[in-house]
Order: sequence, then C-alpha cells, then structure tokens
Amino acid sequence: MKLQIDDTFRKELPGDKVLENHRRQVVDACFSYVEPKKTSNPKLIHISDEMLQEIGLTKEDATSEDFLKFFSGNQVYENTHPYAMCYGGHQFGNWAGQLGDGRAINLFEVLHNNQRWALQLKGAGETPYSRSADGLAVLRSSVREHLCSEAMFHLGVPTTRSLSFSLSGDKVMRDVMYNGNPAYEKGAVVCRAAQSFIRFGNFEILASRENHQTLQLLADYTINYFYPEITSEGKQKYLDFLTEVRNRTIDMIVHWQRVGFVHGVMNTDNMSILGLTIDYGPYGWLEGFDYQWTPNTTDAQHRRYRYGNQPYIGMWNLYKLANALYPLVEDATPLQKILEEYEKLYLIEYENMMQAKLGLLSSEDSSEIISQLEKVLQLSETDYTIFFRNLGNINKNDTPENAINKIEFAFYNPEEIKGEIKNEWGNWFSNYLKVLKTEALSDEERKKNMNLINPKYVLRNYMAQLAIDDADKGDYELIDELYQLLKKPYKEQPNYEKWFAKRPEWARNKIGCSMLSCSS
Ligand code: AMP
Ligand code: MG
Repeated sequence: MKLQIDDTFRKELPGDKVLENHRRQVVDACFSYVEPKKTSNPKLIHISDEMLQEIGLTKEDATSEDFLKFFSGNQVYENTHPYAMCYGGHQFGNWAGQLGDGRAINLFEVLHNNQRWALQLKGAGETPYSRSADGLAVLRSSVREHLCSEAMFHLGVPTTRSLSFSLSGDKVMRDVMYNGNPAYEKGAVVCRAAQSFIRFGNFEILASRENHQTLQLLADYTINYFYPEITSEGKQKYLDFLTEVRNRTIDMIVHWQRVGFVHGVMNTDNMSILGLTIDYGPYGWLEGFDYQWTPNTTDAQHRRYRYGNQPYIGMWNLYKLANALYPLVEDATPLQKILEEYEKLYLIEYENMMQAKLGLLSSEDSSEIISQLEKVLQLSETDYTIFFRNLGNINKNDTPENAINKIEFAFYNPEEIKGEIKNEWGNWFSNYLKVLKTEALSDEERKKNMNLINPKYVLRNYMAQLAIDDADKGDYELIDELYQLLKKPYKEQPNYEKWFAKRPEWARNKIGCSMLSCSS
C-alpha cells in the first residue's frame, strides 16, 4: 500500500515541545504529537470506495491487513508523525478556552491527483486535549458520521469526508441522554478526510493567548494552501481572507437550509475555516418543515442551533473569527464592514436557492411566493424533502386542487388539510401556478431542473438509527445499502422507493431519531 505523503501542517507550523501524552494547556503551538491508541480487536466495517480512489488506493489495498492497521490506529504509516490540533472555541455562546482534538488524531496529508487530503482518526484515544473525557467514540456516532458526510458530499454540500470506519473491539461507557444511565457501548474509529481540519477555534485560541506571531503563521499557512486566490498583501490579505471565509460559510449554510440539514452544535470549534460541514454529532434532517426544530436535546432549552437560526449563528461565529483576526489587521472598521454584508449576501443566496427549489426563473415574483410558502408549510406538519421533490410534478395547467393532491404525500396528517388550512394551500398554489404560466420553461424542463436541487433521498434520522440498530447486532448490510442509496440522492431509484417515505410514527420521539445528545 503506497500513499504519497506530503505533510505540511505539522511541518510548517510550530508544534508542542512536550512529547508526553498527558492533559495540559498547550501554549505557543498549533498541535501536539500523539499516537493513536492500539485497539483490542479491530474490525473494518465499511469503506467509502470513492474516498479510497480519492487518496490513490485500490480495492486490493482496502482488503489488506495494512489498511485495517493504519486506519484503525494500530500502526503508524512509515515516516509519518500523528498529531492532535490545538484549538479553542465558543460553545453555546460562551468562550470555553482550550478544547483541541480530544479524540481526533491526524495521521498525515496525502497528495493525489493534485488534491490534498488530511486524514484523521476520530475516536483513536486520549490526547493532551482530552480534558476529562476518554478520547474514544462509539459505534452509533461513527455510523452517523461516516454515512452522513458521504451523503452530504453527494448532495453537493461542502463537507469533510469519511474514508472508513472500524470497530475497535473495546467497550466504551456512555450516558446517552445524560440522565444518569451510563452503559457500555461498542467502540469505533472513523477515518475522516478533508483538505484540512482547521477550524475557527484554531485562530481563536492563539488570539486569546496573544500569540500573534503564531496566529499570523497559521493565517498565512491557511491562505497559502487553501485560499490561493488571495493574492493581496499586508493587512488587506487578512481582510480578503475573512471575506472569503464569510462567503464560503454563507454558501455552506445556504446548502444546509436547502437540504434541511441541522448541524446541532455550531460552536466555533465546529466551524471549518474552509467552509466545510464538520463534526457530525447530534445533527438531524428536517422531516416536518419547522424553523424551531433542533435534533440536539442538549440544546433543547434555548434552541440556539435550531434550523431557522443557523444563518444567524454563522454570522455570530464569523464575528468571533473576526475578533481573532483583529491583531493581524489592527483596525476594526474594515472587519466590521465585511461582517455587516453577511446578512444581505446570505439573503440573496437564500432567495436564489429557494427560487431554484421552486423551479422559478424570474426573481420578480419569487420572494412573495417563498415567504408565503414558508408560512403554509408550517400550518400542518409537512415533510420538507417530499414536498419539494413532488412539487416538481406540478403542471402549469393543474388546478390548485389537483396540485394539492400531487404533494399530499408530504402531509403527516392529511386529515388536517381542510377548512382554513386547505384554503391557504389553495391560495398558495394558485399564486404559484399563475407565475409558472408566465414562465418560458416547459413542465418537463422545470421538473428536470428541480430534481437536480431537490433531493429525493436524504439520511433521515430514523434511517441512520435502523442501520445502527442492525450494526449493533453485527449486521452491516443496511449501512452499505444506505451508502449506495445516498450516492445518488437526486436520481429516481425504484429499487429503493421505500426510502422515499415520511418518518414512521415509531421514530417520532425515539432516542437517536428525534432526540440526540452530544454524547458520542
Ligand atoms: P464536540 O462538541 O463534540 O465537537 O466536542 C467538543 C470538544 O470536546 C472537542 O475538543 C472534542 O475533541 C472534545 N471531546 C468530545 N468527545 C470527547 C471524548 N470522548 N474524549 C475526549 N475529548 C472529547
Ligand atoms: Mg468538535
């Protein structure tokens, strides 16, 4: 098994001088060297064949003993030096100080086809940043991260990826709902991949320690490798950097809103500096369209990270990043200006996206149609994914009545669609149909466009849970079925029609389906 290793992060940025693996505050460094923990009985459960190719490996490589050893953390690849990154973060609105890779260990960077991939094990044991926790991860959260990051990629959402995951053979104690019921679960290790895993928090920790020299090194490193389009110099370079991070963050969040993804823990340590969806924890997918919804029970009280608040939190987090970059600019006004444009830019992108989901060409009439729709969708529980997918079946010459029938499958309680609610739907459809009639596209062309932006299949919360329940019993077939299904989320897949369905009633209030905590 041959990989083209090209480590840059650990070579170009200052590392921790202390080499022992004990918990500590790590100052003046961007990372600490630490090796993954050996596991008692590693077993490979699933590999993303696409990620395998991306890093230049073959199917034969994947079946080798070496693959299992390297990517479950049981052997260090020759001439590489694993390390954990140092970062801080604002958690649920408060500065939390040093956090860091408490259970993620970076293996190395690979170059293949001119693409850089940093590979990182999650759940590979303690690091200097583990604080009071064990450095491990469990099967359920690993299945969720592996499947969802690959599914997001195929949906066209910027994201970190997942190469593989394996069972460790070790038991891990978790109190799933934090309610005093700890129990042993199966331990697992995910090998995830991204251009880089640098987060907003990597900058924040250096700024908080007034370590401006290293802060500048980190910013220069990030720009050099991941924002090559930035060619300005001096202070302008860091302003352009913030501008680009802002734009990528907006782009990512608009995609989340488009597909109905709720991250669940948008702390600044979980915000990628590359605008990638990162750290799949208590995330969830909208089923009924509801701005207030969050899958994360740890956040149930304030719902800071609810679906409808994600765009605002993106901006809040960028303010924290701007504060961290301030020492490199020493002038608040231009930083402020970049952030003040966030809202306007977000709304433009959001409207464009919603217009496309509705299959509309003209923006003239679409704002009104969009805002009306957001209201009607909430009158009765309406499945977000099914509604938009089936909306593509509407013809210009439909009556509002038969248009409603075409999307009826999206209603969780069809018997509620009568009286005032039915009138509201009727009004909305008559406005929508009026606009469709003025547009040039044929019904067929519009449907084709809409089916490229409105997915048919997403990783509904209950689907991941079914795969987890099976995996817990040693049956991994469903993991692969979902992986294959979600490779083509926009395609009709008649064999998999059963996955184009509303959340079943049993999953409405089930742990893992509608209720998730940060325990993972
Ligand atoms: P999260 O909100 O899950 O992204 O985690 C926040 C912080 O806690 C990060 O610094 C993680 O590395 C750390 N962390 C989470 N779970 C564990 C664990 N089991 N062991 C050590 N550190 C952890
Ligand atoms: Mg995290």
